[in-house]
Amino acid sequence: MQTVLTRKKFSRNLADSNVRGIVALRCLNCLREYDSLRSGYCCPVCELNGAVDVVYNYEALGSIFMNSLKESSSFDMWRYEKLLPVQRPPRLNLHTGGSPLYEFGHAGCGQVLIKDDSRNPSGSLKDRASALAVALAVSEGFGTISAASTGNAAAALACMCATQNLECIIFAPSSAAREKLAQIRAYGATVIEIDGGYDEAFDACHRKSKENGWYNRSTGLNSYMSEGKKTVAFEICEQMGWQAPDKVFVPVGNGCIVGSVYKGFLELFLMKCIDRIPKIIGVQAQGSDYMCRVWEAEASPHSGKILQSETKASSISVALPRDRIKALRAIKDSGGQFIRVSDAEIYEAVVSLACSSGVFAEPGAAAAFAGAKKLSAFDHEETSVVLITGSGLKDISGLLNSGALSVHQGGFSAAQ
Ligand SMILES: [Zn+2]
Repeated sequence: MQTVLTRKKFSRNLADSNVRGIVALRCLNCLREYDSLRSGYCCPVCELNGAVDVVYNYEALGSIFMNSLKESSSFDMWRYEKLLPVQRPPRLNLHTGGSPLYEFGHAGCGQVLIKDDSRNPSGSLKDRASALAVALAVSEGFGTISAASTGNAAAALACMCATQNLECIIFAPSSAAREKLAQIRAYGATVIEIDGGYDEAFDACHRKSKENGWYNRSTGLNSYMSEGKKTVAFEICEQMGWQAPDKVFVPVGNGCIVGSVYKGFLELFLMKCIDRIPKIIGVQAQGSDYMCRVWEAEASPHSGKILQSETKASSISVALPRDRIKALRAIKDSGGQFIRVSDAEIYEAVVSLACSSGVFAEPGAAAAFAGAKKLSAFDHEETSVVLITGSGLKDISGLLNSGALSVHQGGFSAAQ
């Protein structure tokens, strides 16, 4: 089932690099390659089933990339600009990326590290993608950016737009959490509430953006979003002295983050900055497990049955993951696996992570920590990184209603 990747295989047919070292945009569905796609959306043949990969000239960029880091004094996502499709625009000065990697204290023999990406400007890893979206929109002369989102991506986009002269329009399901909508509005964005779920909001955003000529940041449509998110993998390896961990635990909803994390490690491997790619462990909520089912059945990422999502972990609550091709590739090509955790395990993980490390994660993010506990990452002689993608302050009411606080009132040992 696992596909063995070699540098030669991935680098073949790469012509001389063009601007910024990008050699092609490759559709992951039909494998057609394109010189450029305005606004970096999907493959024009496969449309929404055809997420594209931005492919760089890794052979040429390896030493250039490492030398550029010696000259950079900042520790944020723009530090890795040689492997990004666009430059940071003026006034986009919020410190994005450069999040801490903590050693987690525990009783087992494994080394567990917590990558705390809740420390981004709007409180989630999505800031990395939204910063890139804003940079692309500015470079292409757009005045308005839109997105469909239930929360974190929209808050991140509204936050980044607040630094620029850009209008931000968010399409959100009417069921979206009030706290998250308040954060989005506070940044000055316009929120259009759509009757229905995320799918209806996505369709409305797609249609209106096309009609009005807006830059559409929606995950799954805009293939460039992986480029911002992959920088978290670059940081992990640099913080570990250019070593790759054995495993990385990543929460999975739409599939964009897990696909992006894998791409980051793959690019470092292709540039010979690291000597292996870690196993990527995709953690889904039990009631929102499309990727688990497709992976277990060894089926096409498009063939899964779409079931109504039933989990309180709102940021990973997705019936049909939009970035399912990239998500499945991440697990298969890294030799990793998908696992499920229950909502009870997720809320327990919110509290056990907070009270044993001081890192307060939202439920969707704590799912990664629940997954690490489930696979006994603390007890194996290996190094695991747990990716915390969003702050617990984003979903306080869910935690209050979960009952998890009273269960663990007397304290908790992470090794349990
Ligand atoms: Zn295609």
